[in-house]
Amino acid sequence: MVNYKDLGLVNTREMFKRAVAGGYAIPAFNFNTMEQMQAIVMAAVETKSPVIMQVSKGARNYANGTILRNLAKGAVEYAKELGCEHPEIVLHLDHGDTFELCKECIDNGFSSVMIDGSHLPYEENIALAKKVVDYAHQFDVTVEAELGVLAGVEDEVSAAESHYTKPEEVIDFSTRTGCDSLAISIGTSHGAHKFTPEQCTLVNGVLVPPPLAFDILHEIEKKLPGFPIVLHGSSSVPMDEVNTINQYGGHLEAAIGIPEEQLREASKSAVCKINIDSDSRLAMTAAIRKHLAEHPGDFDPRQYLKPARENMKKMYIHKIVNVLGSDGKLAQC
Ligand SMILES: [Zn+2]
Repeated sequence: MVNYKDLGLVNTREMFKRAVAGGYAIPAFNFNTMEQMQAIVMAAVETKSPVIMQVSKGARNYANGTILRNLAKGAVEYAKELGCEHPEIVLHLDHGDTFELCKECIDNGFSSVMIDGSHLPYEENIALAKKVVDYAHQFDVTVEAELGVLAGVEDEVSAAESHYTKPEEVIDFSTRTGCDSLAISIGTSHGAHKFTPEQCTLVNGVLVPPPLAFDILHEIEKKLPGFPIVLHGSSSVPMDEVNTINQYGGHLEAAIGIPEEQLREASKSAVCKINIDSDSRLAMTAAIRKHLAEHPGDFDPRQYLKPARENMKKMYIHKIVNVLGSDGKLAQC
């Protein structure tokens, strides 16, 4: 058993409380590689922001759970080395799908887990989430559960259709599960292709997706005042990165994300965790493609991973400062 506190990690409880009260959101960045981890830590330290480093089942399969946990431990020590005496770093399991997986992560240094029973019938979702909460809380690990279904594809999670969260269910669900935060579905979507062009309207030459269902969010906030709400599938799919990828030999068609203004708006509400994965993938791939196209003789991975890391760091800082507003929000610097 490895307890996250021994690794210098924190759970989400205090940072969410402050984020809801302060009208900002904590970034939850997915990571699979050392370069992503370094870029996340550099961005969080430079902006003095708390940060959630999250790992999907796919990331564990790719990089190995033990290695990822040690990267998170390294992240805490690296943040201190960079001059941040009291970093607030969460190691979170993204989309845990079974009790066993959540337990394994809790037993191995994670400070927060998501149990995603959103595809199950309502009562089964509650039973599964409650089982995870009962186990996690013994070790002061926080739990995110989900109500409603997001559309899109990301790693092993996929759904053809979305089902908005029903506000009338949230009190019963959060009370009976005892979860610490709730992921809801209000129109965000997983992956880099969140919407088809047909679902969008053309404004000044740019395809704008349908707006998030802020009415549902506000209803949920009214039912659960101050309760931490989470948005998944919230990459913005920046056109400059998509264009760079396509300019240097890539082929990404109709990649459309969530406009940043809407995420900024959501951050001011009870939404206190916003998940961003695809934007990091795009930033990394764009930089690598550009570098290799411009330097065809390079073959040392450091030559192209360095600009990739720089580009991701720039993106993370932009999100923290201009979209989520979590800069300068560490309890102690
Ligand atoms: Zn998700």
